[in-house]
This record gives sequence, structure tokens and C-alpha cells, in this order.
Amino acid sequence: MIKNGYICLKIAINSRIKQLIMNEKLCLECSKVLKGRADKKFCDEGCRNQYNNNLNSDTSAEMRSIQNILRKNRRILVEVLGENEKLKTSLKKLTDKGFLLDYMTYLYNTKTGSQYRYSFEYGIMLLEENMVLIVKKG
Ligand SMILES: [Zn+2]
Repeated sequence: MIKNGYICLKIAINSRIKQLIMNEKLCLECSKVLKGRADKKFCDEGCRNQYNNNLNSDTSAEMRSIQNILRKNRRILVEVLGENEKLKTSLKKLTDKGFLLDYMTYLYNTKTGSQYRYSFEYGIMLLEENMVLIVKKG
């Protein structure tokens, strides 16, 4: 294992030296010398995919699922609000479309004690009798 690691490191260093001397470009993933077009960054799709997977590895399945819920909530508010600046509607109309009340990007408390739950730039305020007010920021 250590020996293999050592060999890999040595190859990488040799490739880097070769690159500096010959002005060759290396694959961003595996550091092999790239042949072909000057703007090439990877040897093949496998290396490109591996590189991108590592870049996105801080995104867990849980994060993706929450991001999808937040996007869906926003989409529902966009759809129901339509061209209006504000709209009073029933909470049921939103939840029937799959709106999840507990998910939001932030909670905004006004000085008068009202509370807006935002899905990005779209917010709702819960009103009496299961009604809601939808607003758009800015
Ligand atoms: Zn490669």
C-alpha cells in the first residue's frame, strides 16, 4: 500500500515536472498528460465525472431532498401568486399542491408581531381561519 502510494506520488510529481518542462497539460483528476485539444481538461468522461463528484461531495442526499422541497414550495407560491403582488388564499390550496409549511428559507418577524415564512423571495403569512397571504419580496 505504502509502496503503491509512493509510486503514485512519484508519477504525479514526474508528470508535473514534465508538464512544467514540456508545457503539457494534465488531467485535473488523474494528472496524466492530456493529448489532443488545447482546452481539454480531462482524459475522458470517467475522469470528468470523478472530478465533479468530488467537487459536489459536500452535498448529501438529505441536503438535496431539502433543496427539492424548498424549490417546490417556491414553485407553488409562484404559481398561485401569478401576476399579483400579494394574494390572500386558503392554506389548503397550497398544501393540496404539496406545499410543506415546516420548510422555509427563513422566518421573518415584523415589529407588529406578524410572521412571514419565506421560500427564497416568496413568503406567506398565516392568517385566521386557515387563510394565508402570499407576498413577493422587493
Ligand atoms: Zn484523467
